[in-house]
Amino acid sequence: MKQPDNVYLDYAATTPADERVIARMQEVQTTSFANPSSSHAAGRQSMEVVTNAARQLGALLNIDPDALLWTSGATESNNLAILGAARHRAHRGKHLVTMRTEHKAVVDVFKALEKQGFAVTWLSPGDDGRVLPEVLADALRDDTQLVSIMHINNETGIVQDIGSLGRVCREHDVLFHVDAAQSVGKVHLDLQALPVDLLSLTGHKFYGPKGIGALYVSASPGTHIEPLLWGGGQQRRLRPGTLPVELIAGLGAAAEISAALMDDEYSRLTALRASLWEGICAIDGVHANGDLNNGYPGILNVGVDNVEGESLLLALEPLCVATGSACNSQSQEPSYVLRAMGRSDLQAQSAIRFSFGRQTAPADVEFAARTYRSAVERLRSIAPEAVA
Ligand SMILES: *Cc1c(COP(=O)(O)O)cnc(C)c1O
Repeated sequence: MKQPDNVYLDYAATTPADERVIARMQEVQTTSFANPSSSHAAGRQSMEVVTNAARQLGALLNIDPDALLWTSGATESNNLAILGAARHRAHRGKHLVTMRTEHKAVVDVFKALEKQGFAVTWLSPGDDGRVLPEVLADALRDDTQLVSIMHINNETGIVQDIGSLGRVCREHDVLFHVDAAQSVGKVHLDLQALPVDLLSLTGHKFYGPKGIGALYVSASPGTHIEPLLWGGGQQRRLRPGTLPVELIAGLGAAAEISAALMDDEYSRLTALRASLWEGICAIDGVHANGDLNNGYPGILNVGVDNVEGESLLLALEPLCVATGSACNSQSQEPSYVLRAMGRSDLQAQSAIRFSFGRQTAPADVEFAARTYRSAVERLRSIAPEAVA
């Protein structure tokens, strides 16, 4: 079999924009260039494009499109939700709850709030990566104002039970924010049924463009946030600035396409993950850092004893995979997500995240399994005692 130039298996970080998404953006760029906030006919036409995209994204999440704020991505949505809610409710209490396994775009926001005088409880997951509703309930205090817990973890694919966790928050009149960057467009999310007040998403995780995301802010009377930016009157002054019409149109198209493909994709990915695991599980000392039954099937995080992760990553060329989050790839630190799940430094250091997407074919996964097997074998034969 011909060796491919490279096999892209990094879909948990960034998915390529769908061709139809790109076509839609190009169309909008030439036909709807006016500022959607302008009241003239061309402006109104641009606003029509924005409204249509909100309808498409609203349909994916089963919400009123007016509950969406456009942002530059999940990082901004997380900042807006967490800082915005904490500041708005600061006069009522300054206690907040989150998890150690959150994405940096949540962790670092809470760290900033700690420096500003807020108290944060950092929940650790169980060995299975999940937090139980009882554990969350125990962490809540009279002065707790906000809980932020992600839906699907970007390194492990572990899925939190946001329904049960959200109900705990509702019972205690605490706002619930969910970083759903990894789940929107990939699994069903019905925000009318789920007790979620604030939810972050980003386009490039579900075949939309980069640099565009949204924050869902529930219309319930208790859900208020302070803006982070000040300027024009766009988006009810909660997130001012000229709307990037073509990016918004691309996100809307991506939402509609994802809704149509979701179920088939989920089964296809489940088969791909099973096939990769089958191809490597016989390796001595190999283990899955995740949940092969209930975890999101687009991600398989694998560790292996007595092999060093950075060398393994190099040995895996031409596979485009990751040791952890793309955002932390400059650091050689073992993954804090795996450490919080109880893995040792050494175990965490060997972890490789494989992730599958729409373009992944069974042959890519077979190639990945073969490459992984021979890489581990080779590294062990070169330096059998190095990390024993
Ligand atoms: C990718 C990602 C983010 C950040 O999204 P951006 O588009 O880079 O702002 C936040 N949270 C999770 C879970 C992610 O996977």
